[in-house]
Amino acid sequence: MSEIYSVSDIFGENVFNDSVMQARLPKKVYKKLHEVMEEGKELDLETADVVAHEMKEWAIEKGATHYTHWFQPLTGVTAEKHDSFITSPMSNGKVLMSFSGKELIKGEPDASSFPSGGLRATFEARGYTAWDCTSPAFVRQDATGATLCIPTAFCSYTGEALDQKTPLLRSMEAINEQSLRLLKLFGNTTSTKVTPSVGPEQEYFLVDREKYLKRKDLIFTGRTLFGAMPPKGQEMDDHYFGAIRERIGAYMKDVNKELWKLGVSAKTQHNEVAPAQHELAPIYAECNVAVDHNQLTMETLKKVAGRHGLQCLLHEKPFAGVNGSGKHNNWSITTDDGINLLDPGATPHENVQFLLVLTCILKAIDKHSSLLRASAADVGNDHRLGANEAPPAILSVYLGEQLGDVISQLISTGTATHSISGTKLETGVKTLPDFMKDATDRNRTSPFAFTGNKFEFRMVGSQDSVAQPNVVLNTIVAEAFAEACDALEKADDFELAVHDLIKKYATEHQRVIFNGNGYSDEWVEEAEKRGLPNIKSMVDAIPAYVAPESVTAFEKFGVFTKTELESRVEIEYETYAKTINIEARSMIDIAGKQIIPAVIKYTTVLAQSLSAVQGACPDADVSVQTELLTETSALLSDTKIALAKLEDLAEKGSAMEEGREQAVFYRDEVKAAMDELRAPVDKLEMLVDKDMWPMPSYGDLIFEV
Ligand code: ADP
Ligand code: MG
Repeated sequence: MSEIYSVSDIFGENVFNDSVMQARLPKKVYKKLHEVMEEGKELDLETADVVAHEMKEWAIEKGATHYTHWFQPLTGVTAEKHDSFITSPMSNGKVLMSFSGKELIKGEPDASSFPSGGLRATFEARGYTAWDCTSPAFVRQDATGATLCIPTAFCSYTGEALDQKTPLLRSMEAINEQSLRLLKLFGNTTSTKVTPSVGPEQEYFLVDREKYLKRKDLIFTGRTLFGAMPPKGQEMDDHYFGAIRERIGAYMKDVNKELWKLGVSAKTQHNEVAPAQHELAPIYAECNVAVDHNQLTMETLKKVAGRHGLQCLLHEKPFAGVNGSGKHNNWSITTDDGINLLDPGATPHENVQFLLVLTCILKAIDKHSSLLRASAADVGNDHRLGANEAPPAILSVYLGEQLGDVISQLISTGTATHSISGTKLETGVKTLPDFMKDATDRNRTSPFAFTGNKFEFRMVGSQDSVAQPNVVLNTIVAEAFAEACDALEKADDFELAVHDLIKKYATEHQRVIFNGNGYSDEWVEEAEKRGLPNIKSMVDAIPAYVAPESVTAFEKFGVFTKTELESRVEIEYETYAKTINIEARSMIDIAGKQIIPAVIKYTTVLAQSLSAVQGACPDADVSVQTELLTETSALLSDTKIALAKLEDLAEKGSAMEEGREQAVFYRDEVKAAMDELRAPVDKLEMLVDKDMWPMPSYGDLIFEV
């Protein structure tokens, strides 16, 4: 029997949200906290003490015994250290439960074991977590019990950002200030705050956990390192939007409930293109909340899978030859009084403010395309970008028919006089309702597509945090807004100046607009002619962080210092090399300890049966056994040779000094050797008796969930 509950009753029940604060905090404290949250005022310890106390009382009612500062170091996953609320036992042997303002606002995890890219020597281990009061605290209930989680930012003793959150909050301040400047130019006196809104669509795979546990590659690296293609792939397009199977449905139901309790507005769920692939999208939220919620979503997807005997794979490419997973980052900019700066209205050609915003964004993307590309780089995503299933590694902007036409008018004549509007959808069936079509069709192949009132950045990898892409988007757009405002604020004739500026930006940056098929080879050629970068690997994307124009933009708004950027570059190279090294070592382990022994067993059986048949019946045709034995033995020998080569190269790679050179070595040498080892093994999988093959096949994993 399925459990019946009211979603609106449980939604946010484990969140210390505004209504809880309003109900529980003294009026004065509530007001003060809001000033901190909205106006960035300093939080005094007295207020923090009251908030902490109420938060603790509320959390204890939800069963909480512990609290944790929940933060996002540069490991790609979240980090937490739990402390119980107990104080030292009193003389009567009892304990009190306490939580002070100081404990709420500041934590001090031993920071020496988190990646810092040389920002902090290990002997200078101090790092602080600071409460991000703009993202609500929540109680998480799981096998650990219930824990009060306080979203925090993580900085070094000297204030350098060691996490994803700090630069994100800084970039949100930048876009807030510059957007308000821009709005003011257009006579807006009502908006007091502008926030980026973000809705990340999360793709993931589900496989049976029993089978997962038999795949050491999935356990160690999150992706399969060997595996022959099954007889059926995704060629029938029968999985996308297909009916959701019962086992998966039960899982999704549980995931939704968990997320709703945490105030994550899980909204859309469906089967994705590849077999065993699915998607979950929330309703968009303020940028930093959306980033936190996406982390919670990924954690929840993984955690709930275990309860259903499933394993959730968030890797960008769990299976070679099968579609990988991404995360579409939908982004817009909204004022506190509900104006979306990316809303073109019915007649965009007349909407001067929108046209300025749009052309500023075109300018930002064109100028910083390599940086934006770098923000979506992670090791797993190298398998997708540019591989004809995900957007190409070339950054271009899709505007669609309506806006594309307005921009063309602007460029050619200097003024846009009309906007193409949507027409009636005619199905030819009388009983179907008529409705107006959108003015613009979709383009699924564009990495940065305008979709009505938002941009959809489609390059992000499925397991990556969406923090970094949004840090970059917020910063580069803030920079473009600032430059436009610098020019317009001193103009004598605003109307004329803004008109000229829009035309100038549209003309100068039109090369980044592309409405065609981004997956085609022609586009790669065309993009090259236009001078658009085509950065194919993470290793080559990384340097964009410290390119002069990036450093200038980040430093201008205090989002990153040059030192912080350099440290991030170092961390990214290290991450790359370490990840490939783990993959190489996993292959070595699996090939040496599982595959080669299994193949030897199989050849032994073949040889024994060959001589048995020959002994029993000298005239029998043993050509099949002979051929199989020859073929298998040859591939076995290839495997051994490739294994030795990979061992040698992985050894060399590990011995190298960390940095760019090492990362390049892993990409060019070690990865190539990994492919060389995989090739004979995948062929062997097709020859060896299935009962003897040491792990479940692709078919077992993706079709039998
Ligand atoms: P599609 O990509 O098919 O249009 P949706 O319209 O459902 O899908 O949107 C996908 C994601 O974009 C959702 O997370 C949604 O909340 C988010 N989204 C919708 N409008 C905006 C907006 N103005 N700003 C940011 N995200 C948005
Ligand atoms: Mg979408």
